[in-house]
Amino acid sequence: AKNSGRNTFRIFKPGMNTLIEKRRALEVDLDAGIARGEFELFLQPRVDVVSAEVTSYEALLRWHHPERGIVSPVDFIPVAEASGKIIALGEWAIREACRMLSLEANVGRLSINVSPIQFRHTDFRRRLDEIVRTAGVETKRLELEITESVLIDDDKRALKILNELKVSGYEIALDDFGTGYSSLSYLSRYPFDTIKIDRGFVSNLGEEGSAEAIVHSIIDLGGRLGMTVVAEGVETLEQARFLARSGCDELQGYLLGRPQPLDKIALSVPAEVVA
Ligand code: C2E
Ligand code: CA
Ligand code: CA
Ligand code: CA
Repeated sequence: AKNSGRNTFRIFKPGMNTLIEKRRALEVDLDAGIARGEFELFLQPRVDVVSAEVTSYEALLRWHHPERGIVSPVDFIPVAEASGKIIALGEWAIREACRMLSLEANVGRLSINVSPIQFRHTDFRRRLDEIVRTAGVETKRLELEITESVLIDDDKRALKILNELKVSGYEIALDDFGTGYSSLSYLSRYPFDTIKIDRGFVSNLGEEGSAEAIVHSIIDLGGRLGMTVVAEGVETLEQARFLARSGCDELQGYLLGRPQPLDKIALSVPAEVVA
């Protein structure tokens, strides 16, 4: 820490100080940002390989900061997690997603990212149910994207919560699959409807290396377990064709559509993109 001793104080380079200060400033701004309505959910389509229809949109947070312009979630989510403000922000996102669902019959389903901190919070399920019920939205129109880190820390409790969420009717997706300590036994033990192959594997397709073998295995395994397999970060036709040939169920990425505000999203994707 900065104050761990007079002699160590100077090891902080100006750049590091700036980063720490920037994070602290963002933390202070988070509450005000929520109150002032500076956050927005952008939506990115997920497309069925066979029908070329949009099956769901992933909701991705954007922060329109009055001085900094658009701040990326890569920058503010870790700050929100470290400060505990992710609880309020996460609830805002759920409420906003429900508002969109109740307002837009054309949007069948939204996928929400749930931070591990949020997921572990004692009140998570109760608050989620309350927000969804108040909005009058059917639970099956919401999919919760969680990451493997949720499963590692408190396995039994995570399993219990996931099963309860399933009973309530939510869809559950395992995000960023392949990046953590994925073991095959995870997949069969938890009630996932969907697994999302991490963007890193997709971007390495076609290069020398193991990405194609890994992607094949994930698709095969997910299929055998009756799960929907989604590839993230699909940017090129070559990637899309490889994934389609390999039996991947759904594609998501800039090729199919960038994250955009609700009023700008195209409600269908040209079939030629997938064929
Ligand atoms: P993620 O959940 O893995 O989301 C996918 C990220 O990949 C998004 O970045 C998306 O814009 C980006 N992406 C989609 N297609 C492509 C592509 O073809 N190429 C490339 N290079 N990127 C693509 P984004 O929106 O910046 O979000 C980054 C991360 O921030 C997310 O990763 C997620 O972990 C987190 N995040 C975003 N919104 C929320 C939220 O509401 N709650 C929580 N807890 N985390 C969120
Ligand atoms: Ca995600
Ligand atoms: Ca992901
Ligand atoms: Ca299924």
